[in-house]
Amino acid sequence: MPAELVCFEERCRARFPITEVLYNCPRCGGLLEAIYPDAPPPAAELRGLWRGRRASNAPLDQSGVWRYREFLPFLSDYDPVVTLREGNTPLLDAPRAAQYGGLDRLTFKHQGFNPTGSFKDNGMTCGVAQARRLGMRRVACVSTGNTSASMAAYASAAGLQPVVFIPHGNIAYGKLAQALEYGALTLQVEANFDQILALVRNLAEQLGIYLLNSINPFRIEGQKTIMAEMMDQRDWRAPDWVVLPGGNLGNTSAFGKALREMKAMGLIDRLPRLAVVQAEGSAPFCELLRSADRSRLNRVEHPETLATAIRIGDPVSWPKALREVLATGGVVERVSEQEIADAKAVVGRCGIGCEPASAATLAGIRKLTAAGIMRGEADVVAVLTGNLLKDPDYIYRYHTGELKDPKGVAIQPRFGNRPVVAPNDPEQLRTILERY
Ligand SMILES: *Cc1c(COP(=O)(O)O)cnc(C)c1O
Ligand SMILES: [Zn+2]
Repeated sequence: MPAELVCFEERCRARFPITEVLYNCPRCGGLLEAIYPDAPPPAAELRGLWRGRRASNAPLDQSGVWRYREFLPFLSDYDPVVTLREGNTPLLDAPRAAQYGGLDRLTFKHQGFNPTGSFKDNGMTCGVAQARRLGMRRVACVSTGNTSASMAAYASAAGLQPVVFIPHGNIAYGKLAQALEYGALTLQVEANFDQILALVRNLAEQLGIYLLNSINPFRIEGQKTIMAEMMDQRDWRAPDWVVLPGGNLGNTSAFGKALREMKAMGLIDRLPRLAVVQAEGSAPFCELLRSADRSRLNRVEHPETLATAIRIGDPVSWPKALREVLATGGVVERVSEQEIADAKAVVGRCGIGCEPASAATLAGIRKLTAAGIMRGEADVVAVLTGNLLKDPDYIYRYHTGELKDPKGVAIQPRFGNRPVVAPNDPEQLRTILERY
């Protein structure tokens, strides 16, 4: 039996052919997910096959996503695939960050090593492959962030036209610059995010446009490989915790699905607990887990955080993410702008570095160990979602003491590293060098 799309809602569970162009369930509006009715190959066989492909020169095998293709068998053949060798991201030990976080040891899975600098590439290679399989000529998203950068790169590499819709008055220049350079047609529309999405949905069918927004179930399939690759790199020993930032919660959904499926396939023997970390000014999912009624998420009307990748007031994937977090015995934490900024500088001092949203993980770990929820000797992997260079302006302002949170409150550069102005004079330079 081929792969299918199934409605995620328990009360519906409607099924649809994998080749139907759908974004939500046509019956109830629920989120969709890919399912695979056929039994997968035995775990031992898969482990050997996947490890063996690391020595291959075939493009598909060199991809850190398609190497694990038996884990996401939604295509009937691999002709539509274009790979930029996404995934293949390292596990990095970070003793200084561990100490800061109150842990004996801490490992970062650094998704910022991806071709366009974020984990969006893991999902986008799949989303674009599905677009080609469906015979689409254009792909689109509403974003100024890492999604648009990634979509632009993969669409252009695949010979499709990328179209990026920018909500009015909301531009993140670093990431937008990537979208322009990778050749996206960029449309700034005088409307907010939801209005544009509605417009684009109406136009999509007539114009042969395939939407690659966060709920796209094929992007979720690709992001599952972040967990598969992590387990492969750990010789299939599950950690106690996997920590990640939460915005639209697509990644939380993907990690949960991956862990469940790997357990069912016998690839791992237990589920790590998921710890999702949000920024205080954009923490509707954290609120949801702390409330008695979990049937409805209260959106944050004006989400605020300098960590723009997680500045999301109404996360679309929350029903999936809720199920996944609960299934792993996980937790959701929130952290302040100051905590994110300091944690980010600590990740930098490890020689690793990341963008602000990613640093929420270390800030969250510090809070969770202090609260006794995460034990100091726990085996923890934190996923750094984006590259340091995504947001250089934030960095310069932090180190020079000019960074202000969205309310205008100054952020203290507790780990600041200000450039020193020095005169053209050897004696004075010597004095300065001896002082530091
Ligand atoms: C997209 C993104 C996030 C948020 O991921 P969700 O799946 O929306 O929760 C976090 N960090 C970075 C760097 C991102 O690009
Ligand atoms: Zn449904």
